[in-house]
Amino acid sequence: MREEKIRLAAGWLKNSKHTAAFTGAGISVESGVPPFRGENGLWNKYDPMVLEIDRFRADPTGSWKIIREIFYDYFRDARPNRAHEVLALMEQRGFLSAVITQNIDNLHQEAGSRKVYEYHGNARELICTRCGQIYDPVKIGLDHLPPRCPRDKEVLKPNFIFFGEPIPEEAAAMASHEAATAEIFLVIGSTGEVMPACMVPRMAKQRGATIIEINPEETLFTHHITDLHLKGKAGDVLNRLAVELFNGTDDASM
Ligand code: NAD
Repeated sequence: MREEKIRLAAGWLKNSKHTAAFTGAGISVESGVPPFRGENGLWNKYDPMVLEIDRFRADPTGSWKIIREIFYDYFRDARPNRAHEVLALMEQRGFLSAVITQNIDNLHQEAGSRKVYEYHGNARELICTRCGQIYDPVKIGLDHLPPRCPRDKEVLKPNFIFFGEPIPEEAAAMASHEAATAEIFLVIGSTGEVMPACMVPRMAKQRGATIIEINPEETLFTHHITDLHLKGKAGDVLNRLAVELFNGTDDASM
């Protein structure tokens, strides 16, 4: 990718009074978390039906066996990468108002981002399907499946949304607010195929935002709403943007 594109994006970001980021599975690939779709996607190996809410209710043990492997074995050792870190730094230095993420891996928060709207929930929490109490999966333990609420013995479910469940209300409202008010929307590592999340950048575009997309591939956004495509891996591209944004130095460490 040409340096002019990075400089152009950095110039826009410096002049923007309100920038929001919208992230998908791609931003966590460099942390070792595979995406669902694509060549090395998890859905080539697993049946997505394990995340169907009716199937989970009918057979929680069967669903949990796969869920544990995907979300607690694969995700367990993941640490934030340079892309998560740069977004956290941008927030701290006044270049970014919020991150809207489809991801459920908690890596934005671990990198230091404070305003994170989790459109699909978070795997680092379990929720009781009866009383709604939240638990830490590490404390509960996942050796015996399904994990159960210590209080009323009901099945615990990961606190992210399954197919057939609604988007968490507050995250949906805050994402809409960001889309309606942002001057620039950074769209990072998302295919644009997942409904209704993919409508958030589309709404931002309709409301007048400039869309900067960071992705090594073209997506459903690229030829429809993207104004500037920074083609490359999120960690590389955001690192180069950080150098431009933070006074042209490479002093972009935490
Ligand atoms: P997705 O829409 O999240 O797309 C993945 C995108 O990442 C693709 O466009 C791909 O080109 C891009 N990508 C791959 N490597 C990249 C990199 N290094 N830098 C930037 N972009 C890169 O699709 P999905 O994987 O099918 O996910 C479906 C849903 O499940 C989404 O909501 C997603 O957030 C969620 N999910 C979350 C996680 C996680 O929490 N880490 C992992 C898998 C899926």
